[in-house]
Amino acid sequence: MKQASMEAPGRIRFENVAERQPGPGEVRIRVQQIGICGSDIHVWHGTHPFTPYPVIQGHEFTGIVDAIGPGVEQAPPIGSKVTARPQIVCGHCNPCRNGRYNICDSLKVTGFQADGCGREFYNVPADRLVPIPAEFTADQGAFVEPVAVAVHACNRAGELAGRNVVVLGAGTIGNLLAQVAKARGAGRVLITDVADHRLDIAKRCGVQHAVNTAERPLKAAAREVFGPAGFDLAFEAAGAEASLASGVDAIEKGGRIVIVGVYGRPPAVDMSVVGDRELDLVGSLMYLRADWTEAVKLLASSLAIVPMVARHFPFAEWTEAYRFIDASGTGVMKVMIDLPT
Ligand SMILES: [Zn+2]
Ligand SMILES: [Zn+2]
Repeated sequence: MKQASMEAPGRIRFENVAERQPGPGEVRIRVQQIGICGSDIHVWHGTHPFTPYPVIQGHEFTGIVDAIGPGVEQAPPIGSKVTARPQIVCGHCNPCRNGRYNICDSLKVTGFQADGCGREFYNVPADRLVPIPAEFTADQGAFVEPVAVAVHACNRAGELAGRNVVVLGAGTIGNLLAQVAKARGAGRVLITDVADHRLDIAKRCGVQHAVNTAERPLKAAAREVFGPAGFDLAFEAAGAEASLASGVDAIEKGGRIVIVGVYGRPPAVDMSVVGDRELDLVGSLMYLRADWTEAVKLLASSLAIVPMVARHFPFAEWTEAYRFIDASGTGVMKVMIDLPT
């Protein structure tokens, strides 16, 4: 089989290796399609702080169960459509013991600190498999992972029903956050960005209110959309200091901001405002198994993803896919890699 090994930033080597039989407890998956996300692009650029090279990338994917290893008690039958959680956790640190293995002290993520699915056949421990409906497109399967990120962040937000919500940042995760919040019964949802292209895609995905905060400040936009009630829940998905600061400034007293974005450098936040207005700043990292189950359900019923998919590239042109992303800047959301069928 062919596998794609990133030997160094900007250098992917395709190698021919023998495919392995699934070991004890493992299931072998024939990979169909892989989504490229923001973190992958950081690895491509050599700006991801926790990824050693060489690494086989890929953690958002659709595949088909191809073989089941010895000792596997529960697995979808051969031929089923699946994806898999990328987290490798220790199971005995304090967070793991408290059921919060997404923040495991020795968390490893496939595609970063361990090899991912960038190969024709991929062996995965059966307990990390997530079944997906047979009628899912390969795009939908590859979106389960980012949707699970949004579901987890919504769980960190608390009750959503009827609440007015602002999502700062209209990249893939921000877009999905706005859609998941709405599906969970949020009142009005306003998404913001400084790139019109991403706001247009959000609108095409059914997000009602989209505002470019380079042109209109968040406070004014929020007043227009929410009226005097304002908003008391925000998701910061831009990973930018100015975006976080605008949220802290504009949210109602007693409001909650869930931090989903990844910051290139530590942002400055006015903690006197956080104190005076009794704001909650809440972190969110990746997801738990239940978030994936919920993500599959939401993708099956109410989420729009097609407008986010910019382009598909064949497996052998993964390097070209990154060049396309680099050349497109903010103009591109999700790029997919198609494995040979
Ligand atoms: Zn990702
Ligand atoms: Zn742990």
